[in-house]
Amino acid sequence: MAIAVYPGSFDPATYGHIDIIRRAGSLFDEIIVGVLNNSAKSPLFSVEERVNILKRVTEDVPNVKIQAFSGLAVNFARDCGAQVIVRGLRAVTDFEYELQMAQTNRVLAPDIDTMFLTTSLEYAYLSSTIVKEVNVFQGDISKFVPPFVAEALQEKYKQK
Ligand code: ADP
Repeated sequence: MAIAVYPGSFDPATYGHIDIIRRAGSLFDEIIVGVLNNSAKSPLFSVEERVNILKRVTEDVPNVKIQAFSGLAVNFARDCGAQVIVRGLRAVTDFEYELQMAQTNRVLAPDIDTMFLTTSLEYAYLSSTIVKEVNVFQGDISKFVPPFVAEALQEKYKQK
């Protein structure tokens, strides 16, 4: 059984992430989305909130699981019994860091491969950071995230 993990911050999940999850879901028997619990990054959404958002926006994908993890992605992959780490590539700017990370992971865990899915063109510009910035200035984020996520972002804005 081919299992892949898709690790990231997902703070919060955007249509770009959802697109990668769906496409990875059709390539692998199981896709486990790993939500990084990294206190050093001080995310807008807690790890529980990010997990719940992802569960909700992928509830129609049958072979996806959402899990929080901390530490190294290769250790998370091993714990899940996964052979592959999936990452999304948007532009050349992603490439250098992603290549470095994939090569580091290959040294740490030669039995686990990284596979890159290139972003769908309509989401190539999209990042969680940009969505949060537009939201801070009360811009329209409906083309970036599902309605439920837009509401959660607006709630956060009101709390600040
Ligand atoms: P990280 O903090 O690890 O970069 P992110 O949540 O920003 O985590 O992204 C997780 C993964 O999703 C990364 O591989 C990233 O390249 C990919 N990704 C982010 N936004 C998009 C997008 N719009 N289209 C495709 N892949 C994306």
